[in-house]
Amino acid sequence: MRADRDVLISEVGPRDGLQSIQAILPTAAKKAWISAAAASGIAEVEVGSFVPASVLPQLADTAELVAHGRGISGLTVAVLVPNFKGAQAAVAAGAHKITVPLSVSETHSLRNVRRNHAQMLDEIRRIGELVNALPEGQRPHLEGSLSTAFGCTLEGVVPEKRVLELAVALMEAGCHEVGLSDTTGYANPAQVRRLVRALWSAVGRHQLSGIHLHNTRGLGLANAVAALEVGLNTFDASLGGLGGCPFAPGASGNIVTEDLVFMLEAMGLRTGIDYAALLAQRALLQQALPAEPLYGMVPLAGLPLGFQPASASPGSSKGS
Ligand code: ZN
Repeated sequence: MRADRDVLISEVGPRDGLQSIQAILPTAAKKAWISAAAASGIAEVEVGSFVPASVLPQLADTAELVAHGRGISGLTVAVLVPNFKGAQAAVAAGAHKITVPLSVSETHSLRNVRRNHAQMLDEIRRIGELVNALPEGQRPHLEGSLSTAFGCTLEGVVPEKRVLELAVALMEAGCHEVGLSDTTGYANPAQVRRLVRALWSAVGRHQLSGIHLHNTRGLGLANAVAALEVGLNTFDASLGGLGGCPFAPGASGNIVTEDLVFMLEAMGLRTGIDYAALLAQRALLQQALPAEPLYGMVPLAGLPLGFQPASASPGSSKGS
């Protein structure tokens, strides 16, 4: 964590948001988004996913976006990879952080990546060997993300015991950290508190710092507060909640970056992100994707009169 912030927000819109919509955002517009995000104070952007273009043509330019992001001083460039081949491409491109998802729901795993748990863990072990064989200075951070950890649209209830077992397996496979992901928007705050604490007991406090939340049922920010209160400090979020879910009309995808930043800053927690610059990014995104609905309450309502963001308070390094 940088000294000028209490919470790290990772902007995942260019990956999670763009993979969920039909429109393909031109590479130039993606680069402009990534640059604007970094300029507004966002320290980490998930720029894409190394998957075959036949599967997700929206993300076919990921290598070019990694190169672009690497050119921005201080920005952590994150990518998602579903398999060893994707990890090789991510390493070759020079991504700083590689996230490999492992669906706790085996049915979802089979449907999503056509691999069961044993096969997926074999794949992750190979990725771990690839990454950990690199010299320390060139080694990307490898995160194993426990997706569908709070419930699955195919299996329903996902047993917490299974989440813990797979978290241990991910660490044994060579991951540096595990992440918790509410892929389906099923999580509630009590469950978030319970699962974070249980995972810390299973893999160690420093091996889980982040959470990926969706706002499908309107509990995204409540879940973020629950995670914050037990001590997590890294949150994925997406500008304008881009992505949505075709099966839940009006429901946004990821938690909305603008609303999350407002909430945290209002709570006195420094995100290091400039709110006005965030709104400018939102306007650019809307311009580039005129047919896509953007979500978020604060951009519609405006900031409260007299609002003082924590990041701009005296004593913070921004100081203005
Ligand atoms: Zn997601």
